[in-house]
Amino acid sequence: MEKEKLYGKTLNELIVVTKRLGLPGFAAKQMSDWLYKKEIQSIDEMTNLSIKTRELLSSDYEIGLSDPVNESQSSDGTKKYLYKVMIDKFIETAYIPDEDRATICVSSQVGCKMGCIFCMTGKQGFQGNLSANEILNQFRSLPEFHNLSNMVYMGMGEPLDNVTEVLKSLDILTNEWGYAWSPTRITVSTVGIVSGIKEFLEKSRCHIAVSLHSPFDMERGKLMPIQRTNTVLEILDIIRNFDFNSQRRVSFEYILFKGLNDTQAHIKELAKILNGIKCRINIIRFHKIPDSEFESPDLETTIKFKEALNNKGILTTIRESRGVDIQAACGLLSTIQQNKLL
Ligand code: SF4
Repeated sequence: MEKEKLYGKTLNELIVVTKRLGLPGFAAKQMSDWLYKKEIQSIDEMTNLSIKTRELLSSDYEIGLSDPVNESQSSDGTKKYLYKVMIDKFIETAYIPDEDRATICVSSQVGCKMGCIFCMTGKQGFQGNLSANEILNQFRSLPEFHNLSNMVYMGMGEPLDNVTEVLKSLDILTNEWGYAWSPTRITVSTVGIVSGIKEFLEKSRCHIAVSLHSPFDMERGKLMPIQRTNTVLEILDIIRNFDFNSQRRVSFEYILFKGLNDTQAHIKELAKILNGIKCRINIIRFHKIPDSEFESPDLETTIKFKEALNNKGILTTIRESRGVDIQAACGLLSTIQQNKLL
């Protein structure tokens, strides 16, 4: 019988484990220390638990960490790792070192239901939600784990379509009994699921990044089917009315597609719909995927677009393209790996 994994359990879930095994309540805190502060690999290393307790634990539980199965490195230092999950599936994790920071980009699902037409992960369809264990294992088992300064949930899948496990992972990352990271080091990205955004804003203090890509209903709906049921105006309403503290940041991701969403009309409408929201726009250059009609505009157009938005009073930056020589588009590497097995 497969053992339950301890890594990825919140303190409350560890308390449930202690109750189940008839252990004293404080053993849960001892376990969270071993799991999230002392970086152990096996239950045997929990040396402040008695040998009998460790044997009892080991009969039903394991730590549950697993190393990446593949890696590729870009000439710019970015690395992409593949982790195996759910017996025969693969997820991608990116490690992005920069001058003063090192960011991990984690996946939250295998494939994705959202069907954004410019996205390789969307083309895979949905294959399953990742557990908090599988989300955090990408972080803990990353060879560069000790270098990490920031974390973004922008890999495969829609994090707020798996909100329960994502919130659990954030709990472990940001609580004192867990990794005690500041929530301001973590950004969760979403296409804009109304119920998920409400829950995320209430239950976490991490930054949020909403994928916008067009300010126009019809156009956005063609790019991102979610727009048909969860409109961007509803999302903006929630954000506008939420009481963000000064530390918490809202940003909008905007992939620029040549001749589609890079016009003056888009700039004008963006300024209109974002009016009154303290935010920034991150312009992302499109990473080509197979069989896609989309292209990225040239750098000059991209810079002009950015400057026009800045002139309208919206803080706008161009996100540097990283890892373009190692299948930078999210979902591409795992699709290749999956196809090798078919
Ligand atoms: S862009 Fe994000 S939400 Fe859209 S299909 Fe891809 S992974 Fe899913």
